[in-house]
Amino acid sequence: MSHPSTARAELLSFLKCLWPAPLTILAIPIGLLYSLRPRRYGRAIIFERPHRGSICRRKMYAFTIGHVIIASGPMPRFILEHELVHVVQYEHWGPFYPLGWVIGSLVALVRFRKPYSRNPFEAEALAVEARVRLSPPELAQPCSSARLLSNGFEEHTP
Ligand SMILES: [Zn+2]
Repeated sequence: MSHPSTARAELLSFLKCLWPAPLTILAIPIGLLYSLRPRRYGRAIIFERPHRGSICRRKMYAFTIGHVIIASGPMPRFILEHELVHVVQYEHWGPFYPLGWVIGSLVALVRFRKPYSRNPFEAEALAVEARVRLSPPELAQPCSSARLLSNGFEEHTP
């Protein structure tokens, strides 16, 4: 039998996965368009398009839906950290996250502020991203060779 606090932590982790699960399930087919080899990162599932060398010069982008993080290429650490903030936000807001995000942008727009960077969800993620950008260079490397330090996520390398 597991320790009560361990059991409580496992239950909490399960509930954090369950609450945004409808969105996570919807996102998996989208993720498969980017990569057929997803990897776990704590509670997140990452679909990264494989690196294409110098042929691929388009701007890198990434987005999160539920526990699924989708990226146009291997993510530098600061982008991964940004997206993990959104995973935690999904764990709090569950299926209401997209609506909350849109309302956050609309409120910023009505106040004549930038709808992306002044959206409270993005502002939180951008603050974490900025902190990681300022951290030592070894933490700014692509996440495949390093371990994550914040948000309670740990990298699961195969
Ligand atoms: Zn974001």
